[in-house]
Amino acid sequence: MKILVLNSGSSSIKYQLFNMEEEIVLAKGIVERIGIADSFLEQENNAGEELRWEEDIADHSKGISLVIKALQDDDKGVLRDMDEISAIGHRVVHGGEKFADSVKIDADVIAQIEEVSDLAPLHNPPNLAGIKECQKLLPDKPQVAVFDTAFHQTMPAAAYIYALPYEYYEKYGIRRYGFHGTSHKFVARRAAELLPKEKEESKIITCHLGNGASVAAVDGGKSVDTSMGLTPLEGLVMGTRCGDIDPAIVPFLQKREGLSPEEIDNVMNKESGLLGISGVSNDSRDISEAVEDGNERAKLAEDVFQYRVKKYIGAYAAAMGGLDAIVFTAGIGENASEIRAGILSELEFLGFELDEEENNKRGEELEISTSDSEVKVFVIPTNEELVIAKDTAAIVAEL
Ligand code: ADP
Repeated sequence: MKILVLNSGSSSIKYQLFNMEEEIVLAKGIVERIGIADSFLEQENNAGEELRWEEDIADHSKGISLVIKALQDDDKGVLRDMDEISAIGHRVVHGGEKFADSVKIDADVIAQIEEVSDLAPLHNPPNLAGIKECQKLLPDKPQVAVFDTAFHQTMPAAAYIYALPYEYYEKYGIRRYGFHGTSHKFVARRAAELLPKEKEESKIITCHLGNGASVAAVDGGKSVDTSMGLTPLEGLVMGTRCGDIDPAIVPFLQKREGLSPEEIDNVMNKESGLLGISGVSNDSRDISEAVEDGNERAKLAEDVFQYRVKKYIGAYAAAMGGLDAIVFTAGIGENASEIRAGILSELEFLGFELDEEENNKRGEELEISTSDSEVKVFVIPTNEELVIAKDTAAIVAEL
């Protein structure tokens, strides 16, 4: 069975075509700069052959038709016919309280995604555009929506209710939703397989540390808390997002700097985090280089980042009343051994010891705690696209 996975953003469409029997990627690519000058499509197939088309891509309709064309390219394509594809899986950022699982898309599901779009105005509309264009261009293919928020719908109310007047929850759905759900679910499941305990009894903290970053507490296979909130802004320090701050800073800065709601939102989402503190970059590799060159603000950015993750790990061990494993994933979590070591230092009281040699390895699944540690620490590469493909295949198999 072949499944196409699409991640439609406002100006880009990322895609991967999976062969589900072997769980391999047959081709992957990206359409960039949709609706902007210099738009292009890039694709690489599993033979390593690359294709790049530079042309005017005015909208998602054109973008998706190019994806279909590239997959069937005579030279570097991987499909003879779109009929070879069984279904399409779409990443949808916000499912609100309506979706606790992946679903087959129909008119009702589209209406429900539209209904929660004001909770994710930058993400859900382009996700929907991708879905609607696929419906037009490939009307016979079943389509499945896989939500970033779904895995966290198991959180108890004590974890998701903000201490604001309750009517705002009722009126606007203001609550913690959490994101990166497909990633937290994938690595928590894998960690549970690696633990000697039954999955139902395992208490796992998953740290998804990429440009966007979040931590989740996964108790018995279910998310019981996570650091991102109504939007992905809350929680950890990220590449350009501030994460947790005193909410009173917002009106203070609006008044002092004369910022509109949109402008302060932009400051907190695009100008803060590692970039904001260091003044160097949002990329942790640039920060590490600057630290080596003696840049003190870069060091401060790294310290604040690590300290915040450490606090969440402590908080979530408390929330679950115990801990069996900590998992690191995504760009920083999978690659930055020094940052992992920094986060874990002085957390050994939780019941692990770091195996420094293992921690210095890269790019693979690792157990980085010593073999006699009671609590295990793993590095598990995430694969959100594969989760979307698997969910899609499972739903299609039931049709
Ligand atoms: P996102 O998908 O959220 O855009 P990623 O998961 O790709 O982000 O993570 C991006 C972050 O991972 C960047 O801060 C980058 O510096 C870091 N990163 C990626 N590769 C490496 C590496 N080899 N060593 C250290 N950090 C890395």
